[in-house]
Amino acid sequence: MPRGVAGGPYSGAVSLTESAELVPDLDRWRELPAAQQPKWPDRGALDDVLETLSTVPPIVAPSEVDTLRAQLAEVAQGRAFLLQGGDCAETFDLNTEPHLQSTTRTLLQMAVVLTYGASVPVVKVGRVAGQYAKPRSSNTDALGLPSYRGDMVNALEPVMDKRIPDPGRLVRAYANSAAAMNMIRAYARGGLADLHAVHDWNKDFVATSPAGVRYEVIAREIDRALAFMKACGIDSDALRGVELYNSHEGLILDYERALTRMHDGRAYAASAHFVWIGERTRQMDGAHVEFFSQIANPIGVKIGPTTTPEQAVELVERLDPEGLPGRLTLISRMGNGKIRDVLPAIVEKVTASGHTVVWQCDPMHGNTHESSTGYKTRHFDRVVDEVLGFFDVHRSLGTWPGGIHVELTGEDVTECLGGAMEISDEDLNSRYETACDPRLNTGQSLELAFLVAEMLRG
Ligand code: PEP
Ligand code: MN
Repeated sequence: MPRGVAGGPYSGAVSLTESAELVPDLDRWRELPAAQQPKWPDRGALDDVLETLSTVPPIVAPSEVDTLRAQLAEVAQGRAFLLQGGDCAETFDLNTEPHLQSTTRTLLQMAVVLTYGASVPVVKVGRVAGQYAKPRSSNTDALGLPSYRGDMVNALEPVMDKRIPDPGRLVRAYANSAAAMNMIRAYARGGLADLHAVHDWNKDFVATSPAGVRYEVIAREIDRALAFMKACGIDSDALRGVELYNSHEGLILDYERALTRMHDGRAYAASAHFVWIGERTRQMDGAHVEFFSQIANPIGVKIGPTTTPEQAVELVERLDPEGLPGRLTLISRMGNGKIRDVLPAIVEKVTASGHTVVWQCDPMHGNTHESSTGYKTRHFDRVVDEVLGFFDVHRSLGTWPGGIHVELTGEDVTECLGGAMEISDEDLNSRYETACDPRLNTGQSLELAFLVAEMLRG
């Protein structure tokens, strides 16, 4: 079977010559060390899969990607807010209509609270339709088995055989992502996202929670406003649908490269509208930073508490060489105890570099601990405090706290502690369902949205 060009390394749907003319360094990442890549047992099987992926239709269209970039430029310039959230790790089994609907609904509810509560346009991005690969701190898990690396690579089930990376999973990841995006795109323009249905988004188990009750008040006010507008003869399509984008960590570079498509002389990662580089793969001389520097999508990079201002500026100059607002989102994930100390110097130095980035706060990944009952968890108070710290830093520097990035689910799970329902260490086992990191449940997500709306107003 022919592979790439002249049997050379796999090169994607567009011939190596063509993409090399358009984007000469698109494959330069192959010469660099790539952290966190699976050890595929059979290179030939992998190449066959990549060849298949090189000709499949894209999951997202370049025009959508460009529209998101333009909307993120509004965020970067302080005129809109970025709300990004979803599972830590999606799974093939849970790539179902109810699961996608409930994640989407929760995001839309949060967006309503933010838009209504703070009168600011909200750009909505799901960690959805492709969040199937996970970086791991250790190669083995607590049982001594090879670590689960996301459904794109191996299975969560703790069985030796199933933890061996299987390239066939890349095709399933593509198919599941495409199906999910197809459904989300259709529902976002149809019934699910119609503002006239704001009440219906409040699921039973949320409606009775303190945040759900508060949400009902806003939903009623929106209903009245819509009725008033209708009486005045205003009935805009803008109220009947939303734009909802997808995103994931662009971890597995062979997958991302195989789904890269040329359009108007530029290379687009067609796997998602927005892709980000994780905290574990942002090495300046590594393959991820190199690959991401070549694609046209809006991209993010996580910056943890050890990031220096100099490193942040290096990343910004490398990943946003043209100085295009909206191109780059810096996602700080410092931990609530560190953000007030570490972030200011980074923001100052990046601002002085002249680049206009989106500043986004991930209040989850710096605040993980093990509960007394043995669960990986996060306390809602620390999550809120990190967002407060993020707002404090930006307010004192005169920069725009552009957005939040959270792990959440539309289900009534018990994975994160605290919140109005006061989930305790002992409660965690009742519905602890995540495939990876603990997520805010719908009630906690809504509470966070109300608090962030207050911070935006203040
Ligand atoms: C994640 O977003 O799930 C993740 C692994 O984050 P980080 O790279 O910041 O640790
Ligand atoms: Mn995570």
